[in-house]
Order: sequence, then C-alpha cells, then structure tokens
Amino acid sequence: MKKLVFATNNQHKLSEIRSILKGRVEILSLSDIGCHEDIPETADTLEGNALLKARFVYERYGYYCFADDTGLMVDVLDGAPGVYSARYAGAHCSSKDNVDKLLHELQGLESPRKAHFCTVIALIDERGEHCFTGEVKGEITQSPSGEAGFGYDPVFRPEGYEETFADLGEEVKNRISHRARAVEALAQYLLEA
Ligand code: IMP
Repeated sequence: MKKLVFATNNQHKLSEIRSILKGRVEILSLSDIGCHEDIPETADTLEGNALLKARFVYERYGYYCFADDTGLMVDVLDGAPGVYSARYAGAHCSSKDNVDKLLHELQGLESPRKAHFCTVIALIDERGEHCFTGEVKGEITQSPSGEAGFGYDPVFRPEGYEETFADLGEEVKNRISHRARAVEALAQYLLEA
C-alpha cells in the first residue's frame, strides 16, 4: 500500500484523513517517522507555509508527504488575520485572545461582516508538488456562541446557516468546512492515482 506522511501530530486531522483513505493509502504522522523538530512556518501565504512543511519532511526524512495550513480572512480587515490566524493576538496567545482581538477590531461594524476560511494542502509525491484548496464563506458574528470546535468557530457563521460553527457541531462542520473540502480534493487526487 502507498505510504504518505501527513506533517502533523493533530489526532483529529489524522483520524479524519485516515478514515477517508482507509485501505488505500497508509498515513503516517510526524511522530511515526521520529520527527520531533519544530517545522518552520515562516512564509507569508498559506500555500507557502504548507509547501515549507511538506518540503521539510521530504528533504530530511525522504518520505512523500503532505502538509496543511489554514487561515481566516476577514474582508473589511483586508484579509487579516489570514496566514497569522494562530497568533493574531500574539506569539503565545489563546484562541479566546484571538477571538477577543477580532471582535475588538470589528467593533461598531454592522453585519454582514464577511469572511472566509481557507485551507491549503501541499503534497509532494512521485509526480512532484501539488496544492489543494478548500474554502467556506460566511460572516463574523457580533459575539461568540457555541461550545464545539476550536479557534474562531464561536464567531464564524457559515453561509446558509443561522448558527456558528461552534453551535453546529463537529458532524455538520466536517461536512462543509474549508478543511473537509481541501481533504476531499486531496483524496480525489490520491484515489484516482
Ligand atoms: P492550522 O493551520 O490548522 O494550524 O490553523 C491555524 C489557525 O487558524 C488555528 O490556530 C486557528 O486559530 C485557526 N483555525 C484553523 N482551522 C480552524 C477551524 O476549523 N475553525 C476555527 N479556527 C480555525
């Protein structure tokens, strides 16, 4: 069976992709290949960061590999926090700090406060480098709502829904999310290969 490293140790992301590719592609995590280093994410685009991570693993460990990077882009903030979504409120900030900063930046602005999530997955295999993108459009709510998910989920309401990602819960989110769409595009490519 074909083997690929997913440059992550996030168990949720690993089990999602393993269940889609079950029996067809074996997915190894960074700890499975003994990689415990900090992989640089110093590019200024999602695609650039995903490629940096995939190349790092391919060049140092010799495995075909894919890596992802995600950001939340808010129209009225010219696409911020974007590639800096994880550390919007500072280097070691919490998700709550990031959400608080975002709501503060948008204070006084009426709805709809349009935004989208974007995930880029970069793959390196025997055919070279490829990128797969998934997006979901929506808006930033006036205040947080819901308990599920992580990151900006409590303030992101996807288009066509009345609730935030955090209200909708994992099952709905995993059907319509940016990451699910990027993973779907990757899976389609791998299963056709
Ligand atoms: P990563 O590239 O998956 O590590 O995502 C970078 C940052 O974007 C995370 O630290 C979160 O703040 C945010 N983020 C990524 N995916 C999601 C999501 O599905 N919901 C809410 N926030 C997310």
